[in-house]
Amino acid sequence: MSETRSGFTRFDTISEFESYIKNLKITRKVNGLQVHHMALPNYDCFYKSNGNTEDELTRTINLNSYGKSMGWACIAQHFNIFPNGKITTGRDINKTPVGITGWNTNKICIEIYGDFDKNKDTMKVSQKEAIIAVYGILCEKLNLTPSTSTIRPHAWFTSGGTYLGDYSTSKSRKTCPGTNFMGFGNSKNAFVNNFYPLIKNYMSNRNTPKEEPEQTEQPKEGKYIVRYLQTTLNNVYKCKLVVDGLYGPATKSAVKKHYLKIGNKGDHVVWLQKALINRGHGIEADGSFGSKTKAAVIAYQKSRGLSADGYAGYDTHSAIIND
Ligand SMILES: [Zn+2]
Repeated sequence: MSETRSGFTRFDTISEFESYIKNLKITRKVNGLQVHHMALPNYDCFYKSNGNTEDELTRTINLNSYGKSMGWACIAQHFNIFPNGKITTGRDINKTPVGITGWNTNKICIEIYGDFDKNKDTMKVSQKEAIIAVYGILCEKLNLTPSTSTIRPHAWFTSGGTYLGDYSTSKSRKTCPGTNFMGFGNSKNAFVNNFYPLIKNYMSNRNTPKEEPEQTEQPKEGKYIVRYLQTTLNNVYKCKLVVDGLYGPATKSAVKKHYLKIGNKGDHVVWLQKALINRGHGIEADGSFGSKTKAAVIAYQKSRGLSADGYAGYDTHSAIIND
């Protein structure tokens, strides 16, 4: 259970953090999230030799004292993510942080506990999962798409606050959040190829409707996915189908009329993308049928022995529904 002490709150689970963020009133404009590691304290400070772990709120309160000793109003950062995946609050969310010179206004500062330079701490899975969730939940709250303009590590800036757009051993102020951050590091390529996709994937999986509890006499996902399709066809094409979750003649004939192909956009595409995501295809449910969606359709068609043409027509819809 979460706990509040001296004005700081510790969240023991992602869902506790999530409900806190849901109710949080953010009154200033926020258009970016910073990424930091603490370097010191590192894992040796957290995992004590007697087998205990450091108290997260005590550390947070000490970081607040440290901030004051530096002449700041309080702790520099808004959130702290601990090795065990627990999260604490820091600075008032509506106050500008002291995180990255040149990139503090309109930003949220997140400090990750540990030292993630090469050959230093190896990040625990619990912490990795919390990091991805924290950035995903904040992006969703703030309506940000993970990218080099919305999520930036400290290492992409000089001491003077000039944005380099990548980590440079000679020009960057620091390695923060570490040259081996999350196992992929602090470079632009590492973020573009690993960090942003992990966050995006987290966000789109959260938005995928949960399957309804299994019902007898219905295929596992059948009823819900058909009802969702019927609602979508009604909304998008004004099909006037009865939303009964049964894949009958009227629904089949509507599907035959409205197949999907590259270039299509909208809620019908979202239906298809979510179905493919649920079947393990790593795409986004962004409602835009682009080359990645086409590739996923082809892969899905191959997996079901259909002709792999990349058009999501009647056969593909039927296969998804009958899965
Ligand atoms: Zn930093």
